[in-house]
Amino acid sequence: MIIGILAYQGAIEEHLKMTKIALESMKINGEVKLVKKYDEIKEINGLIIPGGESTTIGKISSLNQTIQLIKQRIYEGMPVLGTCAGLILLAKRVYDRVIGEVRQSLIGVMDITIERNAFGRQRESFEADLEIPIIGEKKFRGVFIRAPVIREVGPNVEVLSRLGNLIVAVKQGSIIGTAFHPELTDDPRIHQLFIKEICNRLL
Ligand code: GLN
Repeated sequence: MIIGILAYQGAIEEHLKMTKIALESMKINGEVKLVKKYDEIKEINGLIIPGGESTTIGKISSLNQTIQLIKQRIYEGMPVLGTCAGLILLAKRVYDRVIGEVRQSLIGVMDITIERNAFGRQRESFEADLEIPIIGEKKFRGVFIRAPVIREVGPNVEVLSRLGNLIVAVKQGSIIGTAFHPELTDDPRIHQLFIKEICNRLL
């Protein structure tokens, strides 16, 4: 199993580390690679799109044309985990309260509407304990950094978690998205959930 971390910008090393921890905890012999190039993205079995700045990640991957390949591979069934900016890139519809509908490059495979920067600016970042039943009863520490929220979901999208009445984690088939940063905790359960999707696919 080869898991790729899209390595243009953002919390790349943190995902690398957490994915290795998750694989080890599941006793799975897998490789985790930082990927940037077309040929690298072609050979992975699952992709993590990190948090960071969605406009930057989107711009780079449309300039080097990997955005099309990522989209195609996801449509073919490759599992993907998008966190924060990564979630934004996966969404079909994205807006910002201040500027309205955004004009940025998106992978656009998830039937959700996202509001970017929904909690305000960097200084409005925060942490909160979340209930995410699919990964177990123990609460998950959600780290929200200039985070988006999911405002609408289509019929094929499963809501995995809410913070109050705001949707903060979703799953559509093998596509998992979180508004928070699971790689910045010491809890590998979201990464394990993603790896399970890859296992199901490879079986
Ligand atoms: N606000 C950022 C964006 O819109 C996301 C922040 C993050 O990934 N921590 O891309």
